[in-house]
Amino acid sequence: MSDLRDLYQEVILDHNRRPPNWGSIDAPDRAADGYNPLCGDKLRLTLRMDGDRIDDVKFEGSGCAISKASASMMTDLVKGKTMDEAEDLVDKLQAMVTAPMDVPAEDAALGKLAVLSGVREFPARVKCATLAWHTLRSAHEGKPIASTE
Ligand code: ZN
Repeated sequence: MSDLRDLYQEVILDHNRRPPNWGSIDAPDRAADGYNPLCGDKLRLTLRMDGDRIDDVKFEGSGCAISKASASMMTDLVKGKTMDEAEDLVDKLQAMVTAPMDVPAEDAALGKLAVLSGVREFPARVKCATLAWHTLRSAHEGKPIASTE
């Protein structure tokens, strides 16, 4: 990876064209807002839980292609997982994008997210790639939204 354009690989562009989990969940169990002042990326996550399992997750907001693609891939990946499993992925993603360039970005658990390892060469974009993940953690650590039922 030697050029920022290389970050916009097909997978990233595709997640920007048609983010499958774009939007918000009615009456979510958990929600959190994320903001990356370095780039201006804003993100709102809403989750529906089934016990400790993430039954559904959606995102909306405005931001650069990397932040949106990362959010889109994150929502794809954590749906159906428990919060603990999702937290583990947050740690893995964070480790991947902050690892030295000579460490291969290969972790089967992260799958297609390996394309985000390209941000390692552009430290200013690391927060774009991790915004959705930190927002997920905020949603986990924050208070659940009180049920009105
Ligand atoms: Zn950004």
